Amino acid sequence: MLDRILARGEAGAGLSARELTQLLNLEDPAEQQALFDAAYRVKLRHVGPWVRLRGLIEMSNFCIRDCYYCGIRRSNRRINRFELSFDEILAAAKNALGFGYGSIVLQSGERSDPDFVEFIESVTAAICALPGCAGITLSCGEQTMETYRRWRRAGAERYLLRIESSNPRIFRSIHPADASFDDRVAALHRLRECDYQVGTGVMIGLPGQSGADLADDIEFFHRLDIDMIGMGPWLPHHDAPLRDVEPETPERARKRFELGLRMIACTRLQLQDVNIASTTALQALAPRGRELGLLAGANVIMPNAGGIEHRADYTLYDNKPGLDENASETRLALEQSIAEIGEKIAYDVAGTSPHYLKRQSSQEKQPSPEPRIGD
Ligand code: SAH
Repeated sequence: MLDRILARGEAGAGLSARELTQLLNLEDPAEQQALFDAAYRVKLRHVGPWVRLRGLIEMSNFCIRDCYYCGIRRSNRRINRFELSFDEILAAAKNALGFGYGSIVLQSGERSDPDFVEFIESVTAAICALPGCAGITLSCGEQTMETYRRWRRAGAERYLLRIESSNPRIFRSIHPADASFDDRVAALHRLRECDYQVGTGVMIGLPGQSGADLADDIEFFHRLDIDMIGMGPWLPHHDAPLRDVEPETPERARKRFELGLRMIACTRLQLQDVNIASTTALQALAPRGRELGLLAGANVIMPNAGGIEHRADYTLYDNKPGLDENASETRLALEQSIAEIGEKIAYDVAGTSPHYLKRQSSQEKQPSPEPRIGD
């Protein structure tokens, strides 16, 4: 029975919500492994054993939102607010591009004031002009069409905006009243309209979230024709109220970790050719978490490329790994651990989502190969 579902999933036949739920709820280790192996074969077919890297720069933890799960929520008075200067961001980006990361992700808390909009615009343009830069992803929350357009024109080609949960009831339970599910979906549509490669994702193992909800999340990614997925287990933060709803235990942490891996595998089976990140949240739960994510079907890792000075101030959840590991150490450790699992790092590539390239070429009716630096 399981074999048949996995074979159909692997062939790209498209699984029903019920079948996906069944896979998401697997607990038997051998059955889980069969799921991971099937997803891994799908990944090999579409992207090979190549890990694409994005140098992550956490620019600022100022935030106008008050999400119940997040450590940098605006009402958390116990963190040190910071913002990196233009020069600090540029130096981190140069360093990451020097490592051959190819692509940069700029992430911050959400702001929409004119100074912020202009700052992101200018820093994006400056990074874009650096030698070796093959792609910039922004992850700065919900913005107006005009702002998304300005940043796109400045050179950002990709945008990550997680829906957090595609179930409006769960979305409501983890956000205060000033956040709206419909607004977030509308922002995803605006990004597509502005011609970004659009990334979204969810938190996995949220209080009150079932396997069927996660199956619906995958259906949501499919319906919106998403190009990139960034998702990971929800992790409690000591100053964020969601931790009180479901106090952490080692057993719960273990279950969310495994569910995180199954969610990656099911997303790979169902969406096949998208980029899927193996996120730091997996690594927070298990030392080799990100590597196991790669073996379950993910193909992107976002190593921290910023300095260590403000790393501890950008804690979305407790036990963030790599707090005292500088960017060079991170790179070395990553090279080793990726080699250990038999994968290879794709240096100096844009690492564009094959799904996006296919959509582009079918729109233009001509093949558009992945851009490589130097081409
Ligand atoms: N402000 C931006 C990006 C910063 S937060 C935005 O709103 O898109 C980036 C992501 O971190 C969030 O989308 C959320 O999914 C994740 N995150 C935040 N707190 C978390 C927690 N406690 N556990 C796991 N993931 C968390």
